Amino acid sequence: MALINENYFKLKAGYLFPEIGRRVREYSEANPGKKIIRMGIGDVTQPLVSSVIKAFHQGVDEMAKAETFKGYGPEQGYAFLREAIADNDYKSRGVDISADDIFISDGSKCDTGNIQEIFGFKNKIAIGDPVYPVYADTTVMSGKTGKCGENGYFEGIIYMPCNEQNNFVPELPKERADLIFLCFPNNPTGATATKAELQKWVDYALKNKCIIFYDAAYEAYITDDSIPHSIYEIKDAKEVAIEFRSFSKTAGFTGTRCAFTVVPNELMAYDEKGVAHAVKPLWMRRQTTKFNGVSYPVQKAAAAIYTPEGKKETKEVIAYYLKNASIMKEKLSAAGFTVFGGVNAPYVWIKTKNNMSSWDFFDKLLKEAGVVGTPGSGFGPSGEGYFRFSAFADRENVLEAMDNIQKLFA
Ligand SMILES: *Cc1c(COP(=O)(O)O)cnc(C)c1O
Repeated sequence: MALINENYFKLKAGYLFPEIGRRVREYSEANPGKKIIRMGIGDVTQPLVSSVIKAFHQGVDEMAKAETFKGYGPEQGYAFLREAIADNDYKSRGVDISADDIFISDGSKCDTGNIQEIFGFKNKIAIGDPVYPVYADTTVMSGKTGKCGENGYFEGIIYMPCNEQNNFVPELPKERADLIFLCFPNNPTGATATKAELQKWVDYALKNKCIIFYDAAYEAYITDDSIPHSIYEIKDAKEVAIEFRSFSKTAGFTGTRCAFTVVPNELMAYDEKGVAHAVKPLWMRRQTTKFNGVSYPVQKAAAAIYTPEGKKETKEVIAYYLKNASIMKEKLSAAGFTVFGGVNAPYVWIKTKNNMSSWDFFDKLLKEAGVVGTPGSGFGPSGEGYFRFSAFADRENVLEAMDNIQKLFA
């Protein structure tokens, strides 16, 4: 008899984005011809920049000739890409990460989901609330949790509430954690962490021998020089942190697929006897067994992001989205909302009005303003009463959506 992984049944039935899709479909079928502006799902809208496209084409052409054809690539990814990353994302910021610590992959979603595989079953996982749902869901799938309670929390996960009181930066957990997921700039709140705040986490991890999974998918949106782009900007973080980065939001690679994960040589985890073991060889073993690399043309395309032209072009696209975010922040504030995020991040996070629930607010906005956003409660129980707007949209649509919202709430 084939037994199913019953942990999957613990996952909440209506996953956020399908439920949004269902409600939007239902509404547009009942109201044909009504314009709907989508600012819900965190997917980019601008095309790949021209230097990336050029390199992508070159990569494809190389595959067409016997002399330059490539089969399986190097296990961790091509050196040209890993070296460009080490030089531009780390060494240029005074951070000593070598190309050897970098693993190219087809996405940070996969990597943040897969990473727990190389750690023991008894680890206690700490997760921000609200946050990107992948961390909690993959913890549930792996069988490390009990059921989901009435309060929306899974038994066995340590939730770290992020709210107005702590500026949406979680406090150290009261209960001892072993593996900690942090995401800055944050999806969905747009919050960023200062060096001092990250230092607190690194100190906690060093003291308690835990590991931080640092998801920096939105680091390219940081414009304030005082905010760290990498957890490795904190001293000794290499001993306690794995960093996830993605070209998805940095350079529009959501449909092209390329990301990387940094596992430094210094990073240790412990066996039951307390003996330290390097983590990197385990991740190498996991990836070489279950993953066979990102296609050569895609890695070529990703490397083009680090050329002078590529840097300039991607910066312009990011500036475009950030301008959207600042327009949204301004207009929503003018409409009387309490607004968070929207700087150093492509998300604007607002408090609904009159204590409306996230989903009620979603329905009101859809039906009365023709605007789709994301209910905050979909990212964790502490997101209830909040709402996320994504700046990944066309300027015209942003202006129209904000106009509609202003009229509705004026
Ligand atoms: C979009 C996003 C990612 C990127 O995932 P990919 O699989 O690389 O596209 C990772 N983390 C967070 C928090 C995100 O919002």
